[in-house]
Amino acid sequence: LLSTDGSIAATIFAEMSALATETGAINLGQGFPDEDGPAEVLEAATESIRNGANQYPPGRGIADLRLAIAQHQERFYDLTVDPDTEVLVTAGATEGLAAAILALVEAGDEVLTFEPFYDAYGGLIALAGAEHRTVPLRWPDFQPDHDELRRAVTDNTRIILVNNPHNPTGAVFDRATLELIVELAHRHDAIVVTDEVYEHLVYGATHIPVASLPGAWERTLTLSSGGKTFNTTGWKIGWATGPAALVTAVTTVKQFLTYVNGAPFQPAMATGLRLPDSFFVGAAADLQAKRDILADGLRSAGFALSLPHGSYFIVADASALGVEDAADFCRRLPSLAGVVGIPITAFVHGDRHSEYRSLVRFAFCKKRAVLHEAATRLATLR
Ligand code: PMP
Ligand code: GLN
Repeated sequence: LLSTDGSIAATIFAEMSALATETGAINLGQGFPDEDGPAEVLEAATESIRNGANQYPPGRGIADLRLAIAQHQERFYDLTVDPDTEVLVTAGATEGLAAAILALVEAGDEVLTFEPFYDAYGGLIALAGAEHRTVPLRWPDFQPDHDELRRAVTDNTRIILVNNPHNPTGAVFDRATLELIVELAHRHDAIVVTDEVYEHLVYGATHIPVASLPGAWERTLTLSSGGKTFNTTGWKIGWATGPAALVTAVTTVKQFLTYVNGAPFQPAMATGLRLPDSFFVGAAADLQAKRDILADGLRSAGFALSLPHGSYFIVADASALGVEDAADFCRRLPSLAGVVGIPITAFVHGDRHSEYRSLVRFAFCKKRAVLHEAATRLATLR
């Protein structure tokens, strides 16, 4: 976690966003939208502040948000969740991840993730003193090989940490893969922690929550967040759902991490979760159109693509542009083309870098005009 000089290393997102600010390049690196989400959700937060929701909320989150989370699980996934015992509001999915890992693993236990993996997974597993094992997701479809997955889960595996839809690859796991994960968790007495923050950002695919599969609920902790769905990444309102024992374990750790969080944003998130189906469908359709604008631009610029079915990221292979090292290319891309992207090696352990060396992640959660401008700029690379 430390740089060679002993200082705390900046995350790749902070480093690349700083580069975008310095150079004035279009920031397709860090994934955050450049437009506000639904007006009624924003209005509800302002109203909450005016109405005095400015002190510590209850430890598990306000009752109405927990109810709205349970209703959302029922509406979209047919899952019955008890808002009093099976829901915890967290400071973003990040705190849910931190609290889950700290609650469920002992030093030396193994946590299995797919690789590439969201950077916080590596950091949190290290903070917990656990061993990080991975199963590779390979270009171009980034679906795990089932035999490799079977071999990777052992009796030493304490947590299988799933991220579906997947950051950074945009992969959406199919039912067979998710069922295999549940079967392996049973066989080896592991817990599935599943990070589904992109649950509503799917294009031409169906999101299947792990918890909805037969036999999964009793050993699955689901994490999500309103940041992606409602364009409120700065609010850090997330939630954990699952069997009471798992949620209680996470609550126990949360009380010493943040204790509580986001009082005025909690009622606003309840408003968001109760928006009609048309909102969720419309938001995904809008992002799909944005995906396609950026995909066209990247293809015209000479990149090969893995077209994502989920998340707001596209992985592009720059090797046809003569790029061997995407990390170096990403550092030069602001001056070459006025665009920022993130090298996929930032999401991969050092010993696997060679397989991912020419791949770059670009975010498409930006205004259409911004994506068109990025496409125009990238075209100069040809
Ligand atoms: N998990 C994944 C896969 C993510 O991409 C993100 C957003 N960067 C998070 C967790 C963090 O979510 P939050 O902002 O709600 O903490
Ligand atoms: N989840 C976003 C991404 O992957 C931002 C994460 C962050 O800045 N920590 O780009």
